[in-house]
Formats: sequence, structure tokens, C-alpha cells
Amino acid sequence: MELTPVHQHLAQTFQQMKIQEHVILKDYTTFKIGGPARFFCIVKNEDDLIEAFNFSKKNKIKMFVIGGGSNLLIADAGYDGMVIKMDISGKKYIEEGDFVKVTAGAGENWDKLVEETVEKGLYGLENLSNIPGTVGATPVQNIGAYGSEAKDVIESVYVLDIIKDEYKTLTNVECDFDYRDSFFKKNPQRYIIISVTFKLNKKGKLNFNYKDIQEALSAKKIKNPNLKQMREIIIDIRNRKLPNLKTYGTAGSFFKNVIVSSIKAKELLDKYPEMIVHAVNNKKTKIPLAWILDHVCGFRGVKKGNVGTYQNQALVLINYGNANAKEIIDLAQKMVDKVYEETGIEIEPEVEYLE
Ligand SMILES: Cc1cc2nc3c(=O)[nH]c(=O)nc-3n(C[C@H](O)[C@H](O)[C@H](O)COP(=O)(O)OP(=O)(O)OC[C@H]3O[C@@H](n4cnc5c(N)ncnc54)[C@H](O)[C@@H]3O)c2cc1C
Repeated sequence: MELTPVHQHLAQTFQQMKIQEHVILKDYTTFKIGGPARFFCIVKNEDDLIEAFNFSKKNKIKMFVIGGGSNLLIADAGYDGMVIKMDISGKKYIEEGDFVKVTAGAGENWDKLVEETVEKGLYGLENLSNIPGTVGATPVQNIGAYGSEAKDVIESVYVLDIIKDEYKTLTNVECDFDYRDSFFKKNPQRYIIISVTFKLNKKGKLNFNYKDIQEALSAKKIKNPNLKQMREIIIDIRNRKLPNLKTYGTAGSFFKNVIVSSIKAKELLDKYPEMIVHAVNNKKTKIPLAWILDHVCGFRGVKKGNVGTYQNQALVLINYGNANAKEIIDLAQKMVDKVYEETGIEIEPEVEYLE
């Protein structure tokens, strides 16, 4: 077939910018679910990013940035816009007295960075070991695990503001971090994160207060773990609790933990005295949603058709094979309804739905 001049021009543009069309997205997610992106492009440097951005702007195409796709559920119908797969790499270490500032490209693998910093004897990222995904996504939901959060070590975030069409460096305070929340989450898809700078400590202190870590340490008869042992322990715990991504499709915890008023927490504790809650402050209490899903709602290890919850952790929804997004959403909705019916708590997804 002969190409018209317009198609020739578009084909040339696509070739130059490596923009692909109708790319199936499920292969770019850990859930292994999702239809096609109308346009798709892998961005390896700032020039690629600007080209993709200009192309989308000129053609009035909406954009969505993905990293490792480990916190996403993508609709069966896919996404009628431009999906930018962030793949900007690079790492830079700058020493400042007892601290080292590490700047990493948004497309760098998160756990590889954690591993490297631990190898270098730098404290700060060890409790966030073995979380899937990219560096660029860590500020978005302020990733957290085992008593640490990304916000504790993020110094600044370098972004492209797609509304003002300018580069910016946001300080930690400007990122407005909160529990699984940030300025980026409150302003979705406005800022494309290009790199993140972490401030790590050469003489830091380990945080092993978390119950699971304490148990693992006493099982191994370790009193004062070193940095490498700490990372190994976290990896062991996570491997026991969470599904292997090579075996199952999942995006980890599907729902956020719940923070309720202390009055509500007391009401629940009267009903379920064996539930272990954590006071956030004297007005708010964190409720363990996994415990409620398991002990109150009986959702641990359920399986229906292609979908279910993980046998070791009811918060984790699983694609057992060829599940589609609708099946996951139907199961999630059942869980939302049941938790509300039993406890009066409205739970919210942590995983983002892209449609
Ligand atoms: C088995 C498993 C365990 C997990 N455990 C944890 C855990 O312990 N703690 C935790 O917090 N999370 C956990 N997660 C969730 C997930 O790994 C994190 O949220 C991770 O940071 C997502 O990274 P990603 O690169 O895959 O982001 P994606 O899923 O691709 O994207 C997530 C969000 O970030 C945005 N985003 C990504 N990159 C950029 C960028 N460069 N610029 C702007 N926006 C961007 C996307 O638009 C989207 O809104 C787990 C997931 C799995 C599958």
C-alpha cells in the first residue's frame, strides 16, 4: 500500500521518536493485565521525553507515565492516549560530610539502587528493600515498608511540569508527602519525574522496631544486625509474605491500610479485642486491614476463577492466569462492601486504575 504524504510524515515521525501504536500494556505491568495503549514510547533520556511530550501536546493526546507497572491495574480496553514508559537511567553520588547524596534516573530499578547503596555502606534505603518498580515512582505514593518511608530520605525531585512546560526541582517539603500520598498523587500526571535525589547517611542507625523484623532477628539469634543483614532480613520476610512475581500476576497490596479516629478504633477493639492497632497520634489510629480481611471477612487465600487473594496475605490480589481487569475490580468491590458491612470502614485502593 502506498502511503499518503500525511501518513509518510507520521511514519517518519514515529520512526524518529520510536513511538509505537496499539501496544499491549499487560506485559508492562506486574498484574499482567491491560489492553493496548493507542501510542506508546520508551523514553531513555530527556530528549526522548521532550519529543514524546511535544508530540502529545501538538496532537492533543493525553499522556500517562509508567515505570515498572507494579502499582497499576490497566483497563481491558487499554488507554486511548500516549503511554510513556520511563527508562531514564544514571546514578551520581556526592559526598557531604557524614552524608552522601545519591541522584538516580527515574527509570532505574528501585531495588538495584537499594542494593548498591547498602553495598556502599549507606544507611536509609535498607528497609525499603525488594519493593518492585522504578526510582521515579518512589515519591509518587511515598513508598513505605517496615517502619520506613521514601519521604524520610528524599532530598529533592527533578521534574518536567507539563502544564507550565518547564523543568523544576521540588524540595522534600514541596513534595507534600503523607501516608502513601504526595503532591504528585494529588496532581496526577502533571509532573514527569526525571530523577530523584536521596540523602543517605554514612553513620546511620538501623530501624528494627517492626515486629516482623524483631521476630526474624531473634529467630536468627542476631542482636545487632549490620546494614547487609538488615537488607537480607527484609528480603527474607518479604519473600515469605508476598507472592513471587514470576509465578503470579499482582500489584502487591491492593488496598491502603486504614487510619480511623481513636473513638472508632476503640469501638472496633471492643468488638475484636485480639486486633493489634497502632496509634498514629492521640486522635488517630492505624487499623491493620490485612487482619480485618483475614479474620473478620475471611478473605485470605480465596480463589474464584482467574482471581483471588494471596494465601499468606489477604491484602494482595492475584491474577492466577488469564484474569482481566473486570474480574479484579469485581473481587475488589466485594471486599470493599464486606469490610464496610462488618466494620463500617470505607477502604480505598492503593493500586491505581488506568483507563
Ligand atoms: C509484590 C509487590 C510488593 C509491593 N510492596 C510495596 C511496599 O512494600 N510498599 C509500597 O509502598 N509499595 C509496594 N508495592 C507497590 C509498588 O511496587 C510501588 O508503588 C512502586 O513504587 C511502583 O513503582 P513502578 O515503577 O512500578 O510504578 P508504576 O506502577 O508504573 O506507576 C505508579 C504510579 O507512579 C507514576 N509514575 C511512575 N513513574 C513516574 C515518573 N517517572 N514520573 C511521574 N509519575 C510516575 C505512575 O504514573 C503511576 O501513577 C508493591 C508491589 C508489588 C507488586
